[in-house]
Amino acid sequence: MIRAKGRQAGKDSDIGSLSRAGDLFQLLRDGKARTRAELALSTGLARSTVASRIDALMASGLVGPAGEALSSGGRPPSRFAFNPAARLVLAVDVGATHLIVAVTDLGGKILAEHRLAQQVADGPEAVLDQVLAQGKELLASAGRNADELAGIGIGLPGPVEHRSGKPVKPPIMPGWDGFDVVSYVQRTFPVHVLVDNDVNIMALGEQAAHWPEHGDFFFVKVATGIGSGIISSGELQRGANGTAGDLGHVQVARGGDVLCACGNYGCLEALASGPAVARSLRGYGLDVSKGTDVLRLAADGNLQAIQAVRQAGRDIGEVLATVVNLLNPSVIVVGGSMGEAGEHLVAGIREVVYRRSPPLATSHLRISVSRAGSQAAVLGASQLVTRHVLSPAVVEAALAAAMAG
Ligand SMILES: [Zn+2]
Repeated sequence: MIRAKGRQAGKDSDIGSLSRAGDLFQLLRDGKARTRAELALSTGLARSTVASRIDALMASGLVGPAGEALSSGGRPPSRFAFNPAARLVLAVDVGATHLIVAVTDLGGKILAEHRLAQQVADGPEAVLDQVLAQGKELLASAGRNADELAGIGIGLPGPVEHRSGKPVKPPIMPGWDGFDVVSYVQRTFPVHVLVDNDVNIMALGEQAAHWPEHGDFFFVKVATGIGSGIISSGELQRGANGTAGDLGHVQVARGGDVLCACGNYGCLEALASGPAVARSLRGYGLDVSKGTDVLRLAADGNLQAIQAVRQAGRDIGEVLATVVNLLNPSVIVVGGSMGEAGEHLVAGIREVVYRRSPPLATSHLRISVSRAGSQAAVLGASQLVTRHVLSPAVVEAALAAAMAG
């Protein structure tokens, strides 16, 4: 179908194809309260059809009463709105050495959160048992039940086949290759379980929580490794095999003969990741073992540390200038342990991206430090679930099951 430019073509055509309650629900997801008459008018559906679909959505709890509209006389009509408190999401960020488990509502609001040290290298059963135990405890302490869970979203620090939720040869996750995360979790919580790579969910979380108007969005994580999450026209781009955005192993000009853990020479990650910057500073006799040591030195005003971080930013900027050429994002957000704390890193990135990218692509481009910070991944894990469970087909299936049951 060819859509006329300049019209709200997407919205109109979606409304035109409204055939189910799950579709009607999509209109209400913006949280705005509407009357039955307003919904009938904007959808072209008969008042009686709208009424029966609203009844079904009200019975599910997904839509709730939202006061009354103004009336010119007679009984004022009731208004309805999406009720994000209807169900809960368990949002999980499994890092290399940490674990964050949060409970959110369907709007992505974090209601409770636990953070603890956990080695992903302990293997899937040990880590997931901890996730399940933390989840149960969070629900109990919030006075909520497991049957209020709509789904569980899990971010893992390695490549994941999103469709099956199985990790694929993750380099820092011994024992996880091909592990059936979804089935394992569903033995305890029989709900929708969605799994993705941690950088993808950080992109989702950062964008949804802080840049919702920016559908062309790029998130780069700079920590022990370097990776990115691509959101294009509002959709996360995973690529054919789920490895889209793996820019840590792009070769950079300064790379020369620096050997990378992947076996190639001159990779971005071998120059600009936390451990790489720490290594370069040890060459000056400074006592640093990891990226956060470098950041501490830079914050204390150590000039060598500041210069090293800024140079890492320039190296990252070299790759991001290519990203800007290819994808034309309106926002680039820099996160991860190095990115979150790194004004100097972002300064180096800006320096190169604005110099090297085409003027049209950078005229409105913003390059920012992450606003979600260490919550980006759990916010994104929640998004992963809500985008699925609140989709037209899944809402429709849930309403049909409730009717049948
Ligand atoms: Zn490499």
